[in-house]
Amino acid sequence: MSEEDRVAAGWERLNSLLVRLSRPDVSDPDHGTPVNAPVSRASTLLFPDLAAMSRVGRRRYEHEPIYGAMGSANQHDLERAIAIIEGGTDTQIVSSGLAACTTALLVWTAAGDHCLIPDSCYGPTRRFADTMLKRFGVETTYYDPVLSEEALHGLIRPNTSVVFTESPGSHTFEMQDLPMIAHVAHEHGAKVLLDNTWGCGITAPFALGVDVSIQALTKYPAGHSDAILGAITVANEPDWHRLRDAAIQLGQLAGPDDCWLTLRGLRTMGVRLARQARTAYRVAQWLQGREEVARVLHPAMPDHPGHAIWSRDFTGAGPLFSVELNARFDRAAMERLVNGLTRFGIGASWGGYESLVLPTTGGVVRSREGALPVGPTFRLAIGLDDAADLIGDLERGLEVLGRG
Ligand SMILES: *Cc1c(COP(=O)(O)O)cnc(C)c1O
Repeated sequence: MSEEDRVAAGWERLNSLLVRLSRPDVSDPDHGTPVNAPVSRASTLLFPDLAAMSRVGRRRYEHEPIYGAMGSANQHDLERAIAIIEGGTDTQIVSSGLAACTTALLVWTAAGDHCLIPDSCYGPTRRFADTMLKRFGVETTYYDPVLSEEALHGLIRPNTSVVFTESPGSHTFEMQDLPMIAHVAHEHGAKVLLDNTWGCGITAPFALGVDVSIQALTKYPAGHSDAILGAITVANEPDWHRLRDAAIQLGQLAGPDDCWLTLRGLRTMGVRLARQARTAYRVAQWLQGREEVARVLHPAMPDHPGHAIWSRDFTGAGPLFSVELNARFDRAAMERLVNGLTRFGIGASWGGYESLVLPTTGGVVRSREGALPVGPTFRLAIGLDDAADLIGDLERGLEVLGRG
């Protein structure tokens, strides 16, 4: 299989599953059933008597609608679908991808604990650890995402309760050796949390040893730059009860319309992402051949330092990667290039159908010396545009840059 087929293969394999997940039951012989469950907007649900209400109330772990704040029927449908895609047992939907990161950290840490977070994590996760987690008495150490087994042993303390991971890393695309990290963390009794937003659908986090998988459903599953929501998935009953209780206590949920939109988005996730992954790989290869470009940070490229881990742990690739320009260009030149692109929107997020660009250099924080690329760097999110149009746009930008 060519490398370009490899980036799409995992997405294509998902399609038959995605068209069937959480569809309505058609067992009623007297009525036809709509293909899609209707949107179910309800705060209050009525029960025939107190005993019936109390019976349902005891089933809070079973994705049963009880009261709107504990989730709608659409949210429960989406939870069942994400649990299957992730290969876990249960999923809690929350209000955003960031809420999924912060809720999971709150669930699996307590005052006096220590937490390891990779230096390459999503920026707002770092801000949460540095402010609120710290205020609640949890200390964080940022670690090199590609550290050795010995180095990880050295960082773990008796009170380390969580080893947070994110692979590839936000903006800098370091790949983490999750089975090694899980092995070491579990020896010390720590839980492994993974921000699996890039790998949603193309990796099996629990088979790699992860305990808690977190996703911004805003990205691939919703996929149309309209809904914001997140998911936390676990693989056993005690973790599920702990997560579900905390989500109810925190009032974490997503509205039924957003859950419905995300279930709709899931039907085409495999098709969209297979196409986006192929286009991204083609654009990345083209950029790699340009003399203005020092490095393309895409884990499916054979010369990426994390390529072997990507090949081992992923069945496909995401549509997101970074481009490091030759160090002879300065940040202002890179900003001119970014501002001049016409096929790439300037805006936050990724995974939707439209292509986006954002600078990495300048806004992205790292604790480790030398962790950021040397040349000015920007991140591309590839949408459903034609590869030739995107390449043409980048070609014009690089030519202007070269002349400047
Ligand atoms: C976007 C993103 C999030 C946050 O998701 P939102 O739904 O935008 O809050 C978390 N982690 C990663 C890796 C992301 O890219």
